[in-house]
Amino acid sequence: MYPIINIRTYTKGDSFHPIYNMNKENIQEALSKYKNHLKASGVVTTEETEKGIRCVLFDMDGVLYNSMPNHAIAWTKCMRQFGIRMTTEDAYATEGARGIDTIRDFAGRQLNKNLTPEEAQKIYDVKTDYFHQLPTATIFAGVIDLMRKIKVSGVTIGVVTGSGQRPLIKRLLHDFGEFFDEKHIVTAYDVTRGKPYPDPYQMGLRKCGNCQPWQGIVIENAPLGVRSGVAANIFTVAVNSGPLPDSALTKEGANLIYKKMTQFCDDWDILVDDFKRIKP
Ligand code: MG
Repeated sequence: MYPIINIRTYTKGDSFHPIYNMNKENIQEALSKYKNHLKASGVVTTEETEKGIRCVLFDMDGVLYNSMPNHAIAWTKCMRQFGIRMTTEDAYATEGARGIDTIRDFAGRQLNKNLTPEEAQKIYDVKTDYFHQLPTATIFAGVIDLMRKIKVSGVTIGVVTGSGQRPLIKRLLHDFGEFFDEKHIVTAYDVTRGKPYPDPYQMGLRKCGNCQPWQGIVIENAPLGVRSGVAANIFTVAVNSGPLPDSALTKEGANLIYKKMTQFCDDWDILVDDFKRIKP
């Protein structure tokens, strides 16, 4: 079955309306809207949403690591080699989807070719090679501080990535081994349907102790990733670390949006307290 991932594209001229200077009122309003939505759609009862947060699910690229500029370079170079046009904006707009899904989507639309997963995997391997030739991406400021705060709150940490690159998983454990182990990582190999389907984040909830959607928080930077978290009914925080307009993330239903991880880290304690306090 050919996956329809409905990638929306963005251009450099899109308007930019930052709403990332969050304050207590914004957080309360976002939580209230989220819980009301769950209650109205019959997903959950009031009492259940008052139990608080049990897990935080981090996306990897563009959230933990400043790796997206490298991915964009590798994507555009690789696709050009196979006669496919992909811009930097396209690389950001398709981020989060499994690599082979993106390749099959672009080849289908531009070359009129229905690539098999195996054919797409061969192209993805070339992209991976280019990526590994680039300098190692750094960890974003605020990530370690936030993980420490999460740990102090007694909340489980997980990572949910569309990546299928073994070395990156190893690096995750090297960099964040004090906060989670391999059992709390979801990769491209754990699900048949990647983001923007809800499956990866649903798997993340399961891996973090069979949590319910309203007991988790998703932290994402990409439109397809936000769509995935929202589709899984999880409170989704967007950290817009890339060049896309904030509207690209709010359109997908992000509950809160920040420009920097350090800003979200500052608000962590407020969010944890309000998560229990705010009623639908
Ligand atoms: Mg990402």
